[in-house]
Amino acid sequence: MVGSARAGVLDALTDLVLPARCGGCDRQGQRWCPSCAREVAAAPPAGRWTPTPAPGGLPDVWSVVPYEGAVRAGLANWKDNGRRDLVRVLAPLLTEALLAALLAGEDWGGPPGPDPAHGTWVVVPVPSARPNVRRRGDRPLQDLARRSVQAVPPAIRPPVVPALRLARTVADQAGLHSAARSENLRGAMVVAPTAAPSVQGVRCVVVDDVITTGATLAEAARALRAAGAAVVLAATVAATRRRPRRP
Ligand SMILES: [Zn+2]
Repeated sequence: MVGSARAGVLDALTDLVLPARCGGCDRQGQRWCPSCAREVAAAPPAGRWTPTPAPGGLPDVWSVVPYEGAVRAGLANWKDNGRRDLVRVLAPLLTEALLAALLAGEDWGGPPGPDPAHGTWVVVPVPSARPNVRRRGDRPLQDLARRSVQAVPPAIRPPVVPALRLARTVADQAGLHSAARSENLRGAMVVAPTAAPSVQGVRCVVVDDVITTGATLAEAARALRAAGAAVVLAATVAATRRRPRRP
């Protein structure tokens, strides 16, 4: 309750400080207008998504909406244009993908997590590149992940474990085709030593905002498996529907 009360205050402050513009279409009036809400509501339920071509080691991925239109604008505004308030629009979408992954993942079996109080799954956000953390001053994906799990029923609510780190500098993925993205990220992620006990023998759901070529999720899964994760699945808000450019 305290959390939601604080969020309400933050909402009010945000509305005072920022001109209320729709994060999806820039229409004046409110954070997310009815037209953009209808666009999102019209998307089919969260489902499996596999890019073509799929990189080796890509975990099974659940996603909700195509990376286009209002959601594409909303994600860009949330991540790069300071509209952190849009996390309220995006978190329910990630919750939907996450729940679909968790429900499907139950069929996978596997050992329970190390701490029964924490359930049998953990949610692992993909790591942010250091220049982005410096530029943005925060880690919006961790916030999105935390808000998303809050809507998961308590009995199956997984903890968010930011276990992954970038072990080296990687080039900006934008503009790289599928094979180049995989090459750029190969071996780039590691599980932080302090987080290793949280993922070893544990079922993990990697979360990200968008799946494009799948290179990021494949590398995250590789690093988690290398650290002993029992099962790795993935969930994203959106998926790029167009095929990546060929070299
Ligand atoms: Zn709108």
